[in-house]
Amino acid sequence: MARKKIIAGNWKMNMTPSEAVELINTLKPLVKTEEADVVFCVPAIDIIPAVEAAKGSNIQIGAENLYFEEKGAFTGEISPAMLTDAGVKFVVIGHSERRQYFAETNETVNKKVLKAFEHGITPIVCCGESLEQREQGITIDWIRQQIKIAFLNVTADQAKTAVIAYEPIWAIGTGKTATSDQAEEVCGAIRKCIGEIYDEATAAAIRIQYGGSVNAKTAPELFTKPDIDGGLVGGASLKPEFGQIVNWH
Ligand code: PEP
Repeated sequence: MARKKIIAGNWKMNMTPSEAVELINTLKPLVKTEEADVVFCVPAIDIIPAVEAAKGSNIQIGAENLYFEEKGAFTGEISPAMLTDAGVKFVVIGHSERRQYFAETNETVNKKVLKAFEHGITPIVCCGESLEQREQGITIDWIRQQIKIAFLNVTADQAKTAVIAYEPIWAIGTGKTATSDQAEEVCGAIRKCIGEIYDEATAAAIRIQYGGSVNAKTAPELFTKPDIDGGLVGGASLKPEFGQIVNWH
């Protein structure tokens, strides 16, 4: 069965609640499609108004993070039950900005992935290499390690529903998109790694996105590659251009 594309916006730390509603109302008619899942991953405080604003449209709302405990003395954190109660369907886990600025590790990523599945939230698991790692020729080894740890104790049935976002760090927010061949090489290696951890059926089912300066110009070539099932889009998800990315063909 062909995999349905999934195109997700990562708003990062942008948009106040009222700006979020305005942006969703602007983008709603532009991101209409039956051919792809369309997800807006928004700051925690925007989730409730975003879910309300997206009602009746094909937009699903995701979070940008969650905490791996159920509840309790974890000041400032957001629990998975808070997210599901608010209507969240997806959560970005292990974005490179969280790894870089908030000490997220492969181990905390794994805990969060397990917790998301426990609550029926689909994780968008991020991985990616630095420019230095690419130049050292260790990209694939590095990504395989990130994936293997992120999916520890995740069942094949869960993994089949997961989304992985391959995001080379050197391409995020830099305007420097990976070439479609570079992106396909790594997304193919990720699928192979999933096949090794699980089986062919799981490798064939899991959806793998590319992220890193995706824009309306680069999306069509990237999204036609066999192992690239859509994109995780930062900057361009805040603009009407996101409509062109979603309707890329
Ligand atoms: C991201 O935030 O995941 C991202 C890929 O950002 P950008 O598209 O701005 O590079």
